[in-house]
Amino acid sequence: MRRILGVLMVVLATILLAWTILVGPWPVENVSPTSEPAYRSTLSRLAGRAAALPEPVAAPLSAGWSRVPITPAVPTNTAGYGKVTARRVNDSVYVRALALRVDTSEAILIGADILIVSRQMSDRVRSALAYSLGIAGGHVYFTATHTHSGPGNWSPDFLGKQFAGRYDPARLDTIVAAMSRAAHEAHAALAPAEMAYGSFSAPSYVRNRLLGTATHVDSTFVWAAFRHRDGGMAVWGRFSAHATTIGDRAAMISGDYPGVWERELEARTAEVALFSAGAVGSMSPRGSRHDYERAQAVGMPLADSVRAHVARAPWSSTVRLLAYRLPMDLPPNQMRLQRILASGKWRISPLLAGRLVPIRSTALSVLALNRLVLAGMPCDLSGELSREIAASAEARGFLLATTSFGGDYIGYVLPDRHDRIDNYETRTMSWWGPHMGSFLADVARRSIAVAMDRIAAAETTPAEPTSSPAAER
Ligand SMILES: [Zn+2]
Repeated sequence: MRRILGVLMVVLATILLAWTILVGPWPVENVSPTSEPAYRSTLSRLAGRAAALPEPVAAPLSAGWSRVPITPAVPTNTAGYGKVTARRVNDSVYVRALALRVDTSEAILIGADILIVSRQMSDRVRSALAYSLGIAGGHVYFTATHTHSGPGNWSPDFLGKQFAGRYDPARLDTIVAAMSRAAHEAHAALAPAEMAYGSFSAPSYVRNRLLGTATHVDSTFVWAAFRHRDGGMAVWGRFSAHATTIGDRAAMISGDYPGVWERELEARTAEVALFSAGAVGSMSPRGSRHDYERAQAVGMPLADSVRAHVARAPWSSTVRLLAYRLPMDLPPNQMRLQRILASGKWRISPLLAGRLVPIRSTALSVLALNRLVLAGMPCDLSGELSREIAASAEARGFLLATTSFGGDYIGYVLPDRHDRIDNYETRTMSWWGPHMGSFLADVARRSIAVAMDRIAAAETTPAEPTSSPAAER
């Protein structure tokens, strides 16, 4: 009897040990972000990048733009709410591209009416454009509107399939081809252009869904407009409310409120209107209905506001352009689960976490046009964090526009202070431990500072014959 009991105990202990090793729970490591090896390697890489950047000379701007449809045939999976099957198309969805050239330096801004720009998409488009147009990878800046009613079926990854449905290689091919084609067409349409940019606050359309408040939001709408001599125009805009006005019940393909904004401007103001999701982490659109009327109630007034701002903006034809991409190493994966590992002190085993999220590194993108700086983040960046990052740029007289989904996806990144909250954003979707907010914010601030230093230093050097005081703001 005693022997059987002993054997049972050994078997039980072995099972328990195997379970802990393979599944968890493991204690969360509370490591200061600056002592992470990933932090040091990323900063030394940034120093190298900064040293290699060319001087951003002020020179005449050329711009070109294009729009390519990616509306799928229905029925199809959408990407955003989980496995939803769209049975009809409510409004068409597109990929848009904006080519910008100053002197010999050319950058391409790509925006898509989809949930995110995945690593599979951005890698393939970057290599295609490097090969065919000779545009360096760091000069291609990706954004998505984050519509939760856009086409799905593009992800071969386990996690991507949970959001975008089963993987169909043809769907990924279609999106990649549309991005490349839009970039090529925008490049081919490059012509002398003027640029205007600015921002306004739109607090009526955004709330903090994590804290349940109308405060602690990123309510800044940042816009830029590009105009050819014949009057043809492209408009770009960035706002931080999640594109979730329609909800999953409607089961239809739609660009959500960003699609309304784009279509409204393209109908009356611009040939192309490209919307980029801002820092949408914890940020929801205001209101509680879930239908297309709500998308219109957000998208239309935001389009009207941008139209009014563009109409009275000062234009400049001389621009300094700086673009680069900073590969960033990540701290160890410390995945936790909402409700199950709710305290935040325990995580699932690194073996399991590594299988679910097989990511070790990512990248940030920066695109500066005079004193407008776009910073592309590989995540759902918190709107609270973006306000803190933007403040450091504003203090130096720069306008910062953080955008999410810049060609990769590493989950949600929220301020460290929210780590005690048991929520979908702070647990299931925050994968890099309790200090990822300060880790990313620090790297982002330093990356943006490189662009601001370069632009500011170039402004103080004697003006080239082509520059004019109107180019600066
Ligand atoms: Zn999101």
